Formats: sequence, structure tokens, C-alpha cells
Amino acid sequence: MKKLQMVDLKSQYDQIKDTVNQSIQEILDTTAYINGPQVHQFQKELETYLGAKHVIPCANGTDALQIAMMGLGLQPGDEVITADFTFAATVEVIGLLQLTPVLVDVYPDTMNINIEAIEKAITPKTKAIVPVHLFGRAANMDAIMALAKKHNLYVIEDNAQAIGANYTQADGTKHKVGTIGHVGATSFFPSKNLGCYGDGGAIFTNDDKLAHIIRGIVNHGMYERYHHDVIGVNSRLDSIQAAVLNAKLPLLNDYNAARRLAAKKYNDAFAGCEHIITPSFDEAGDDHVFHQYVIRITNGKRNELLAHLQGLQIPCAIYYPIPLHSQKAYADARYNEADFPVTNQLVKEVIALPMHTELEDDQIAYITSTILEFLK
Ligand SMILES: *Cc1c(COP(=O)(O)O)cnc(C)c1O
Repeated sequence: MKKLQMVDLKSQYDQIKDTVNQSIQEILDTTAYINGPQVHQFQKELETYLGAKHVIPCANGTDALQIAMMGLGLQPGDEVITADFTFAATVEVIGLLQLTPVLVDVYPDTMNINIEAIEKAITPKTKAIVPVHLFGRAANMDAIMALAKKHNLYVIEDNAQAIGANYTQADGTKHKVGTIGHVGATSFFPSKNLGCYGDGGAIFTNDDKLAHIIRGIVNHGMYERYHHDVIGVNSRLDSIQAAVLNAKLPLLNDYNAARRLAAKKYNDAFAGCEHIITPSFDEAGDDHVFHQYVIRITNGKRNELLAHLQGLQIPCAIYYPIPLHSQKAYADARYNEADFPVTNQLVKEVIALPMHTELEDDQIAYITSTILEFLK
């Protein structure tokens, strides 16, 4: 059996080595390290892939979220509602911009933001909702967009974990997640579904005016060379990262299909185990692209299982071990524990298993049989 890894980037690289090496060599030969033609090519190709009018590449996913919020003109004191159960970057940028984060609970099955909880948290100061398509699964965008419309709010999709996933709207039309709200943000961190070999990110929008504003913000607030109209940031995707992404974007659908297939094999193996809740998903559809494969251990033995797997060198991880509302940086007297029953439970039950595009059947069989044996 091949060595187990949480993410196997080396085997994936081996498949595209010639293309990647050649395009990186070209950049070294031409020295167009910043804003080379690879960046423009990637921007165009990602626009086509997503069906988004504008893609603005930037330096990482955290910047993408921050720049999206800056572009919308959110002001200190504005309240921004997001999920209690997500990676901290989402809430971090809200705080950095001196906006007021308002964390709300998630659903136990999808682990995505709870619509009733959003509605309850809306006040006259609320300006935006940030749904996170957690672990690769589309959040309930129909309901979120309806709430946003009703209350005149912006929707900023945190699509760092779900690039390539589709959301089917109530009218039957399909859209790539990240392109449904006013603006979407993603990350190309190496382990993400579309990852480069360093840091990278992008913002997407169908709004021409917002795209123009954002293009200036990523470049020091410049709309004309050395004319700084607004306070911006320096956030660029470099040419080498764009070259890697150009090699990988045509394979993204295959990569996501490989993840879904691995998830199905895990789910099939765990079916019938009363102590495991597996992620249910539409096997024929594509609303979940399994950035992570996360199960819940319901017999109280999650931590013991974690230690057992680690002892056997089976990689696993807890995403996420602490609710954001309980983190020192984000605690707030306004929060009431009774409002977070699901997140408080999930942090005790979740465990993420190896998930990547190169998982082999014998690896999945070994991981699942080890877990089933332990929980027996
Ligand atoms: C990875 C991630 C980010 C941040 O992306 P970086 O490129 O690491 O800055 C933001 N939100 C979520 C949900 C993520 O998983």
C-alpha cells in the first residue's frame, strides 16, 4: 500500500510534471514573474470555467475575502453574519476591517450556516452575510439570497473549499458556487481542490462596477498609474502560481470527481456502523466536491479514535476543534451558548480522514476497516 497522507500532492504533481515544469521554465527564461501572461490566461480561463463575468486574482484566500468586503464599501460597525463552524480566516478579515462579526450556528447534516439562525441575527446594522461552502458542499444559496434580498444585504461567498461545486437553484438552473452572491472569494492554497504551489486566491463577481473597484483595491488603490484613489492593498497572484493553476484548471472536474468517488467508497464502507454519521450527498449531482471528508463519531470516542489512528500512522485531523465564538480572539459577551448547540456538538464529534485525488482502494479499505474495528 502506498504511504497514507492527508493530502498527496506529490502523486498529483507526477501526473502533470512535464506541463508544469515547462511553463515554470518559461517564466524563469522570460523573468515575467509578476503579472506575466500566465496570470491573464488563468483569469480568463477561470472566468469561463465558473461562468463568472469577472475574476480578479489575488495573493491568497484570506485577502480575497478582505478585498471583497473592502470593495463592497463595508464600514466599521457594520455587522456581518457568518458561520460559527468554519476556518478562522472568514471571521478574521471581518474583525480586521473593524466590522462586527456575528457568528451563528450551522446545520448538523450539511454543517453549513443555518438559515433561521441568520434571520434571527439580522439587525438594522447588518450589512452582509458570508456563507461558507464548508468542506466543499454548497450552502443553501436560494434561502440565503432570498434573505439578503428581503433585508437588502450583500452576500459574500467564502468558496475557499468548494471550487467547482454546482448549486442548483429552485428554478432548476445550475451555477458554480461562488458566483451566486454579490461576490465570491476563493483560495488556491496547495491542499485546496484547485491548489497552486504556494499561496494564491481570487475574487469573482458578475458586477462590472464592483469588479472595477476591486481591481484597483488589489493594486494599492490605483486606477491610473500612481493615482491612488482609495486605500488598497498589495495582493497579487504571481506568474509561477498562475502557470501551475493553468495546468490544473482543465483537470479540476476530474479532480473533484475523484474526491467524490473516494467519498462514496468511504460512505459505503461505513454504512451500517451505528457510531458513525457519514456525509450524505447526491451521488449523481455535484453540489459537494469534498475538500474534506468529515464524519461524526457519535459514541463519545472521537478523541480515542483520533489517538488510535495517529498511533497507526493513519493521518486524520479535527476540522474544527473549537467553535469560533469560543476562540479568545472572537469571543463576545453577546454570544449565548444556547445559540450554538450544533457547533458545540460537532467540535466534539467530527474527524476528517485522508481526502485527495490520488486515494487508492486499498488505502480506503485499510482506513475504514481500522476505524470499524475500533468502534465495534
Ligand atoms: C483556506 C480557507 C481560507 C483562506 O485561504 P488562504 O488562501 O489560506 O488565505 C478562507 N476560508 C476558508 C473556509 C478556508 O478553508
